[in-house]
Amino acid sequence: MACIDCNKAIDYDAFKNSTETLGVELCERHTRLIKKVILENNTPLEAVQLYYALKEAGANPMLEWWDGQKSVDIAISRVKLNIEIDTDYELITHEQAIQDLEEAMHSFKNGFTTIRIPHMVIKFYLKDTVDNILGIIQGLKANIKVI
Ligand SMILES: [Zn+2]
Repeated sequence: MACIDCNKAIDYDAFKNSTETLGVELCERHTRLIKKVILENNTPLEAVQLYYALKEAGANPMLEWWDGQKSVDIAISRVKLNIEIDTDYELITHEQAIQDLEEAMHSFKNGFTTIRIPHMVIKFYLKDTVDNILGIIQGLKANIKVI
């Protein structure tokens, strides 16, 4: 067993604690760091799981990236891709929907692409989610080259 962040060997207690509370294998130090990030930003657990899955896939993600106005759940800065995890997708209100649209408009203007992913998708289709994001990253890279 090893920490998926720093690759340090971890014992059973650390394994049990991190997988039970965060759903990923982390050493004590990284469990503490991630829990701090969650407390400060109200980060969904699925964002943490997707972050590490993307990291493993070599996508260089950043967790809770500050874009100057708000904290983005996951950002892939190389291609200006922001990923937001929606935790209450079914309960979306019209106020929330128009706010999301406005945010999307602002980020497009600044050259950013924002995708919103319902947390259930990450829970049930983590690998497919990662594959699709890798495809989006490739598409964005190709577009950047054209410009
Ligand atoms: Zn670690």
